[in-house]
Amino acid sequence: MTDDQPGKGPATNPFGSMSINFGGDAAPSAGTALNPFGGGISLIAEAPAEAAPLASGPTTAASAEGRTEAKVLVIGSGPAGLTAAIYAARGNLEPIVLAGSTPGGQLMLTSEIENYPGFPDGIDGPEMMGRFRAQAERFGTHMVDVDVDRVDFSSRPFRAWARGVEYRAESVIIATGASALWLNIESEQRLRGRGVSACATCDGFFFRDREIAVVGGGDSAMEEANYLTRFASKVHLLHRRDGFRASKIMIDRTYGNPKIEVHTNTTIDEVLGDTKVEGLRVRDTRTGELREMPIGGLFIAIGHKPNTDVFSGWLDTDEKGYLVAHEHTSSRIPGVFIAGDVNDHRYRQAVTAAGDGARAAIDAERWLETEAVASAQTATAS
Ligand code: NAP
Repeated sequence: MTDDQPGKGPATNPFGSMSINFGGDAAPSAGTALNPFGGGISLIAEAPAEAAPLASGPTTAASAEGRTEAKVLVIGSGPAGLTAAIYAARGNLEPIVLAGSTPGGQLMLTSEIENYPGFPDGIDGPEMMGRFRAQAERFGTHMVDVDVDRVDFSSRPFRAWARGVEYRAESVIIATGASALWLNIESEQRLRGRGVSACATCDGFFFRDREIAVVGGGDSAMEEANYLTRFASKVHLLHRRDGFRASKIMIDRTYGNPKIEVHTNTTIDEVLGDTKVEGLRVRDTRTGELREMPIGGLFIAIGHKPNTDVFSGWLDTDEKGYLVAHEHTSSRIPGVFIAGDVNDHRYRQAVTAAGDGARAAIDAERWLETEAVASAQTATAS
């Protein structure tokens, strides 16, 4: 995941530099006002990863700090990455997952998931990702909560570096997902973590009884606006057009929520306030008229960009920067596979990402088998 991870403010991000303790017996980390893992699962400070000596040989390597060699290396820990890990682990491939410094992906920032099959009453995103992770670990996945800094896919074993540690693998599944977009106006960036956020789940708690705004016209904006009414006295939803991308059910729910006021044809010219958000200067896109709105917080929910910077030059990308899969989940490099939102700007659902992760793991497993057969035949022939 990149630095653009939502909620990465100094006082507000409950996930930065944290790993997940599924035992639930450690004290919750100080300063984490909202524990998104719920009861039984808490956040603990992550021990720094040390460089581990590399073992030779075709199987996985072990060290006191954890394995650094694997048949399958999964990069990313959203639904795609963790499903790939579950499948690879159950295939006895003992995967390593480089989970990112904000493990769990975008669902960690989602309040309630109502459309994932098997959860008729809905489930919180962080709880769901906790379950995915526990399932992957149950079958022998080695999880490391670090961001990948660099990769080398020029030859096998493929290599990836994270916090100075080199990881090697016979195959790689890339599932790094996508990160929230920002308006990229000066005042928004200056006040990030000081009332401007892209993570209602992380930061909504801090806006109890305040009047706040959400910007965007898609499902994310609707979902965040509705979620934030749990805390805020009033939520203004600002959208630059008069048509929405959001699904009808979310639009209806938003208009039906008495604590939400929808402002269409409205853009933000400036976020007002020196050290914290005190208001917005908004523009009516039809008349050009400017007006000020006194609000105490601003949530940005305007879409995402794929987390592909680290793979730049190695793999094909489309015009939006998403990785391109060629045959099934294969990238242009044999043995490197792609799964989830990093490759998908059409569906972008937890369930489709999870399905993709399963496909990538199955593709990786079959590819490894084919490679093993090929190298055995070569050895016999020589
Ligand atoms: P999205 O559908 O791409 O919507 C982004 C919205 O932000 C659009 O309305 C867009 O306006 C607006 N926008 C983009 N750039 C902007 C800018 N610079 N200034 C102002 N507004 C800007 O993104 P999303 O809402 O994150 O949803 C992405 C996908 O995830 C969708 O497939 C969605 O269905 C799915 N999702 C599903 C759920 C759920 O089912 N519970 C929840 C969240 C997301 P325009 O319309 O004018 O372009």
